[in-house]
Amino acid sequence: MTTVLFAAPGLWAEYQAELPKALAEAGVTARLVEDAAPDEVDYIVYSPSSPLQDFTPYTRAKAVLSLWAGVERIVGNPTLTQALCRMVDPWMTEGMVEWVVGHTLRHHLGMDRYTTNPGHVWDQTCPPLARERRVTVLGMGALGSAVAAGLRAMNFPVTGWSRSEKPGCLHGEDGLARALSTAAILVTLLPKTPETENLLNAERLALLPKGAVILNPGRGALIDDAALLAALDAGHIGHATLDVFRLEPLPKDHPYWSHPRVTVSPHVAADTRTTSAARVIAENVRRGEAGEPFLHRVDRERGY
Ligand code: NAP
Repeated sequence: MTTVLFAAPGLWAEYQAELPKALAEAGVTARLVEDAAPDEVDYIVYSPSSPLQDFTPYTRAKAVLSLWAGVERIVGNPTLTQALCRMVDPWMTEGMVEWVVGHTLRHHLGMDRYTTNPGHVWDQTCPPLARERRVTVLGMGALGSAVAAGLRAMNFPVTGWSRSEKPGCLHGEDGLARALSTAAILVTLLPKTPETENLLNAERLALLPKGAVILNPGRGALIDDAALLAALDAGHIGHATLDVFRLEPLPKDHPYWSHPRVTVSPHVAADTRTTSAARVIAENVRRGEAGEPFLHRVDRERGY
């Protein structure tokens, strides 16, 4: 019997029915437990809030299956010798597309002008069409590529940038400079790695067109906070809608809360959805048992 250890505190109530159902549908005979002797465990379903930090005793475990898409809190764990798989959940992807499209439309259509109009100004200036508003997406992985497709379906011209060379996508430092220079709206969907930390520093923020809007549902560490605040204060950046922060919850006295051109979104862009995520976990357990390659395996060297 395959033993799946559920090491994701606070989520047991949601998954204790869905995950056994998904495992059964995948044709896997397994028991899902919250506690087990380490040498009995075959797979570990994991969230970074778990007290489990030492994987050394899990000598028989084939994989750690993260419920989170971002794995920066576990990828460098030196005790982790098992395969690490991150979460690519189709319903989470749907949520991210909705969040980015929604916030893009808010800024594109200038909706804030009408939701708060204390002077009752009758300003009939129409916004441009989506086809006239360039969007750049940094990070064209599972989420970024779905977001780009969603925006393109609405006629936004989208430029994508990623680490590796791929069709229709910019890469490298020159590619980044080009991608930033045309971005009326910039979406950051990169993972947090040593290479991406502070990617948006003062120098690169200066490459954005004046008045550019930043949407960051990726990770807080992608942006140099002091540089962003300075660029907002200087009027170079028009608005920043931030879903993720270096420290969460965002401290109550952080300047982002009170900045008139910052929207704080409390890390709600795209949640892992129990039903669809359980299917992804179950498929990976099935693959592990069948000796097939895991889905969404993390490259420990790259860090994502
Ligand atoms: P993914 O599939 O691994 O895609 C990551 C993308 O970033 C890839 O296109 C990758 O390039 C690119 N990239 C990585 N390092 C880079 C570098 N140094 N320079 C340029 N490009 C680089 O990840 P995902 O599933 O789309 O998720 C992205 C991130 O979203 C997660 O890591 C997480 O931090 C965040 N997230 C946030 C929420 C939320 O609710 N706010 C929810 C889920 C995820 P290649 O294509 O060349 O590999």
